[in-house]
Amino acid sequence: MAIDHARRTGKVTDEQMEAIRETMRIIAEEDEARGVDPAASFDCARCRQARPRIGSVDYEGVRMCNDCATRFEVARLSGGAKTGAQYAGRAPTSLS
Ligand SMILES: [Zn+2]
Repeated sequence: MAIDHARRTGKVTDEQMEAIRETMRIIAEEDEARGVDPAASFDCARCRQARPRIGSVDYEGVRMCNDCATRFEVARLSGGAKTGAQYAGRAPTSLS
C-alpha cells in the first residue's frame, strides 16, 4: 500500500521517514495476517473520512487511518504534535 500523502518536514530525516513508512506497512500487513476484513472501514479521527480498517492505528482510543497515522508520526517526531488526541483535534501544541 503506497503512502502518497506523507510529507517530509525539515526536522524529520529520510531515515526517520522511511522507518515510519516501514512501520505503517508492517501494521497493515499484520492486520491482513490477522484476518481484518479488507472491506471493513471506520471513521478516522483525524481526516473524518471512512477509511480502511486495515492499516489503521489506535492511539489510546484515537483511531487514525494509515495516512493520518503516518502524518501524525512525522508531526510527533518534528515536535508538531504530542498525542493522537491532540493531533486529531488539532489542539494547540502547548501540552507537555
Ligand atoms: Zn485519516
